[in-house]
Amino acid sequence: MAGRIAVIGSNNVDLVATVPRMPAPGETLAGTGFSTGFGGKGANQAVAAARLGSAVTMVTRTGDDGFGRDMRRNLLAAGIDLTHVTKAPGLPNGVASILVDPAGENTIVIVAGANAALSPADVDRAAPDLARCDLILLQLEIPLDTVYHTVALAARLGLGVILNPAPAAPGLDLSRLRGLAWICPNETELSQLTGLAVETPAQIEAAARRLYAQDLGNVVVTLGARGAALVTAAGTTAIPALTVAPVDTTGAGDAFVGAFAHHLAAGNAPERALRLASAYAALSVTRPGAQSSYATPDEFAAFLA
Ligand code: ADP
Repeated sequence: MAGRIAVIGSNNVDLVATVPRMPAPGETLAGTGFSTGFGGKGANQAVAAARLGSAVTMVTRTGDDGFGRDMRRNLLAAGIDLTHVTKAPGLPNGVASILVDPAGENTIVIVAGANAALSPADVDRAAPDLARCDLILLQLEIPLDTVYHTVALAARLGLGVILNPAPAAPGLDLSRLRGLAWICPNETELSQLTGLAVETPAQIEAAARRLYAQDLGNVVVTLGARGAALVTAAGTTAIPALTVAPVDTTGAGDAFVGAFAHHLAAGNAPERALRLASAYAALSVTRPGAQSSYATPDEFAAFLA
């Protein structure tokens, strides 16, 4: 039985130009290709969970522009409940402007736009629907006050929260995040959160244990092609990655977190949910794009077979 998940988070339209090399300041350069895609950590994770079959409601702000209308259509097509997807009057949609060079190196400028207007009041309006969910999924591409407010509301409603603390937010006040069920950073974010080096497996484990000791819930650190590490009261468990030929790792972390939320809300034990999430994220790196790389249950089953 699939569960119900609420994602309180961002949505962005990705504008991707391929370039022969990165332009110098002040330079105008002819690009070699262009594509648009739907992204934003909140929307990516919502789409991954919905594609796997969860009932997903999203609390997000879209722009007062064509990108905002496109995003609404995209979320609707993904089967997401749009009741709490609202337009931010006068603001552009969130966008990520991305340049990719022939070596696959990229530079990214994110303009939060409407995402910066997602407020605690928006979350309060959604509270009756949030109360019907099995868990809440949060990231850090929305105002931190809205994140703190959601964590406090979830505690009052008795709901578990999974926080993906991405992108790393230097001003994050960990004392306002107590009571999370899960915190899921990647290595870079783990290092930022703890101030510790994460060069070696032993350092990563020490940093993850330090984070666990901060009372922010169970810790899952994603480690790219090396899989993930789970730290709970019972100790540390390595979650293996599957060996795949990577095509595009964009959105792999979001595939992982969205799939983890889906499998957890569906009633799986955490370790099983994480193994399935790791496999789902591995499949996503074999396909281009972010949301476009997220498989259906049938495609995922075929991949595992
Ligand atoms: P982020 O994109 O947030 O930095 P990671 O790079 O850690 O996240 O990737 C998230 C998850 O995706 C990993 O924990 C792993 O399960 C899977 N993954 C990422 N890259 C690969 C890869 N090259 N091969 C297999 N699995 C991968």
